Amino acid sequence: MADARTIWFDGRFVKHADARIHVLSHALHYGTSVFEGIRAYETPDGPAVFRLRDHVARLFFSASAFGMKIPHTKREIERAILKTVALNKLKECYIRPVAFYGEGKMGLVPTGADVRVAVAAWPWGAYLGEHAMISAAISPYIRFHPRSVVPGAKIGGYYATSALAALDAQKRGFDESILLDHEGNVAEGPGENIFIVRRGRLITPNSPSILPGITRDSIMTIARDLHIPVAIKKISRRELISADEAFFTGTAAEVAAIGKIDGRRVGGFRRGVHADTPGPITAKIREHYFDATHGQLPKYRKWLSYVR
Ligand code: PMP
Repeated sequence: MADARTIWFDGRFVKHADARIHVLSHALHYGTSVFEGIRAYETPDGPAVFRLRDHVARLFFSASAFGMKIPHTKREIERAILKTVALNKLKECYIRPVAFYGEGKMGLVPTGADVRVAVAAWPWGAYLGEHAMISAAISPYIRFHPRSVVPGAKIGGYYATSALAALDAQKRGFDESILLDHEGNVAEGPGENIFIVRRGRLITPNSPSILPGITRDSIMTIARDLHIPVAIKKISRRELISADEAFFTGTAAEVAAIGKIDGRRVGGFRRGVHADTPGPITAKIREHYFDATHGQLPKYRKWLSYVR
């Protein structure tokens, strides 16, 4: 259970045990919630939330896909997030803002149901575990056709497919899954974007089926600043399997090196079958991302909102 002690709920702080909803909440039946995953990190100037504005902007964009009117301003939600971290005395944590249609309406069209908003925060270490290299499986499930969803929105109901894919990978003994898109190209993980490295170049899918992550954007900025060429283009299954390096990115997963895909060692062909540490580009990018999130690189302090 997430150890979130004090939760911001509809404009006030309540104890964990009091942050409850009704069984006839619309979102519980039809997935009509929108949410974010955000992290705060310890920096030399105290805890700071990484890319707070971008996450809150995406939350409001996701809500607009449903015509959901969040009864607070973006600034109020940003302040609620910072205050939730401060009140819970967290130095490093995961933050989960969620807005959803509650009671007052059944039937698919949610208009008329209450809109509820909550922000919880709790300590959460490496989402994909502390392994240096994780194992991934290509999923039997595919990402949505871009016309089945509002691309770029982070909507609760979409995550049923992610949960099926993650569960399937776990049942088969893998750490994580990789979903292809409706054209058979590489899309992303169930809750992460994916990058591959080929001949010194970083490549991430341009598939319309992905959630273009905020971490993905940070990684591309960092890579370009390090003079590592970046391309956004289709990645076939064959290109993925024969990549020199591969890694997942996401707020929860951060930068997670992929060691094996469907049991085959990534980059094994070029780097020797005993390579069980992240490749050089993955390692360099991971280190810079860690330093950026922890306020060690002045260039990226603009991405931090300090918890006062
Ligand atoms: N894809 C999916 C499906 C996700 O759920 C997430 C996590 N929000 C990501 C990618 C990565 O997005 P971000 O870097 O903004 O956390």
